[in-house]
Amino acid sequence: MLIDAAVESGAELREGFYVSEIVTEEGRVTGIRGRTPGGNTVVEKARIVIGADGNHSSVAVAADASRYNTRPSTAQGITDAFRDADLLCEALDEGFSGRRELKDSLADYQRRRDAADAGTVLMAEFFAPGNLARIVQARPGASAGGA
Ligand SMILES: Cc1cc2nc3c(=O)[nH]c(=O)nc-3n(C[C@H](O)[C@H](O)[C@H](O)COP(=O)(O)OP(=O)(O)OC[C@H]3O[C@@H](n4cnc5c(N)ncnc54)[C@H](O)[C@@H]3O)c2cc1C
Repeated sequence: MLIDAAVESGAELREGFYVSEIVTEEGRVTGIRGRTPGGNTVVEKARIVIGADGNHSSVAVAADASRYNTRPSTAQGITDAFRDADLLCEALDEGFSGRRELKDSLADYQRRRDAADAGTVLMAEFFAPGNLARIVQARPGASAGGA
């Protein structure tokens, strides 16, 4: 469904394509080198290269990107990925359309993404007896003595 929507919106889909190398120029990621399913080597350059290549992203390594979402909540990874993709699309649209400087909109994206991650509480921490007791104590009408 997502792939169909992306293609309908103008994205070019290349299934079975493998990125073998990240191309950098003067310390900046500017493209990729990869292999088609038929074994041909292809080089692509772009103004913006998005590392949507998962937890062990080679784009992030090449860009020396700062780590984020290092304490993900169980079963929330896909929600987080959609949220961040949405924020990034907004920032790129602002920059490409000229409504803002691209570097400013991307800096704002990073700030919003990191702020969203900062609110994450690990499940084990949330359900720790001390934390549950604190929540119960804080509920309206709870007496200082508990119960
Ligand atoms: C076992 C397991 C269970 C999980 N269960 C849940 C769950 O129940 N709910 C939940 O929300 N999250 C779950 N997650 C986490 C969730 O899968 C991830 O957080 C989410 O998929 C991250 O999305 P992403 O787009 O960043 O990366 P990914 O979904 O990992 O997508 C990255 C894509 O890049 C491609 N790629 C990488 N390197 C290359 C390359 N060199 N060339 C070409 N393509 C490349 C990969 O093939 C992949 O398709 C689970 C994860 C695991 C491992």
